[in-house]
Amino acid sequence: MIPARTEISIARRGLMLVLSSPSGAGKSTLARLLLEKHPEIHLSVSVTTRERRPSEVEGIHYHFVSRDRFERLRDTNDLLESAEVHGNFYGTPREPVEAALAAGRDVLFDIDYQGTLQLYEKMRSDIVGVFILPPSATELKQRLERRAEDASGVIEKRLKNARTEIAHWTEYDYVLVNQDLDRTFTSLRNILASERLRRERQLGLPPIIERLDEELAGLTD
Ligand code: 5GP
Repeated sequence: MIPARTEISIARRGLMLVLSSPSGAGKSTLARLLLEKHPEIHLSVSVTTRERRPSEVEGIHYHFVSRDRFERLRDTNDLLESAEVHGNFYGTPREPVEAALAAGRDVLFDIDYQGTLQLYEKMRSDIVGVFILPPSATELKQRLERRAEDASGVIEKRLKNARTEIAHWTEYDYVLVNQDLDRTFTSLRNILASERLRRERQLGLPPIIERLDEELAGLTD
């Protein structure tokens, strides 16, 4: 009788999956889909001084804080990175990220290029940076208008900022043009699957290699 195979599960170091894009390129939708398919991923919930949009929930989309509170968090080194984006302040709380990584979980970030650069400087080998581009400027504008949660002045500002954001595409590991959501999502999942298999992240490999080597030695000696 053939013995039933036991599944080999290899301990792995968590990775930090960073998604950046100009506003309206589909990054939040991709993040949501990814979390639906991969509930094991921890989403980093940022703090922001921006006003809450009607559809947003405190603690789920952001922690909405005053400017004072933000500055205190930043000054006490409680933020892993922080940046001013579109005139508001945003930052990543340090503690939840460190706890998730220590537990071997992957962490997803929806942050801009300034924050990504800070993370790359601090934790290069843990970061997988993915930049998402809209297929065209017209499409980007239409998506922002369809969202209809921002005033037209805000949309204009975001379109202007899109050029600055896009200029940083070369600083990322991967770039996806989000023409078709399903295809972009498949690419994103493929990136995640491959990055999880990187040799240096598979902390549980050495004992497996050792055992294989011993078994092979037993068969060949
Ligand atoms: P929104 O106001 O549309 O939610 O976000 C505006 C921009 O701020 C987006 O590009 C988003 O990725 C970025 N952002 C959100 N949270 C953070 C954060 O914690 N740090 C940084 N650097 N950028 C963030």
